[in-house]
Amino acid sequence: MFRSVVFFLLTLTTQIGGLAFLLFIWLKKYLKWKRTYQQLALFLAFYLFCSLMVLPIVAPAFGRTPLPLYATNKQGIKPASLLACLMNRHYVKPALKEAIVAASKAMGANVTLVYLDGNFPFWNGFPLLPHKSHDDGEKLDLAFIYQSRKDQTLLNKGKGLLGYGVVEPPISGEVNQPAICEHRGYWQYSLLKRLVPQRKAPEYAFSESHNRQLLAILAKDHRIDKIFIEPHLKARLKLGVYAKIRFHGCAAVRHDDHIHIQL
Ligand SMILES: [Zn+2]
Repeated sequence: MFRSVVFFLLTLTTQIGGLAFLLFIWLKKYLKWKRTYQQLALFLAFYLFCSLMVLPIVAPAFGRTPLPLYATNKQGIKPASLLACLMNRHYVKPALKEAIVAASKAMGANVTLVYLDGNFPFWNGFPLLPHKSHDDGEKLDLAFIYQSRKDQTLLNKGKGLLGYGVVEPPISGEVNQPAICEHRGYWQYSLLKRLVPQRKAPEYAFSESHNRQLLAILAKDHRIDKIFIEPHLKARLKLGVYAKIRFHGCAAVRHDDHIHIQL
């Protein structure tokens, strides 16, 4: 029973963790270390080996590739959270990786694109909770770009919980889609905003110029099919000409804390 629960939880949270756990149970009878903490440490090491060394080699055979774990001179892309990568949430189809690498080059060397959740490495239809749609390698979330209010330097990091939840809300005169959705009874729409402290890195403001530039580059990329942000941001950034940039519907969650793109 205990092993079934562990298998289920590890599979749900990391996709390959359950399989690594079964393999480890089979392997451990050959090990000399028998104490619980020793076996826990060995399992962690075995899991990390599978996640960091084996998966990046195997996943391309199944049509998915990992996004970079850190930015370099050649590509300015990095994750908001290494923990999410250790949970194998940063896999995408190669075309999506190419699109994001191209976007980072077009943004210039100053800007590092920060990605949030992608997809698991295997199997279409395997859910990446709590997302509804990140299950086929074709979806990726990106952090907005934030700039210092004092000296214009860029934050080059995500805000909030693993990059989610710190919102750039509607201001007076803008369409307030979160209020409309909540009024219609979609209680989950702004749930994360209520759970996540909003004062993360307040010295860095939402950069209208950089976010506009990034969203226009992504919208012009033929590989990208849809981009979701809140309607008030689309209007504020004057992106009305791009039909690909759309409202995602009240059944989702608000998208003024991150950008969602998909092939
Ligand atoms: Zn998304």
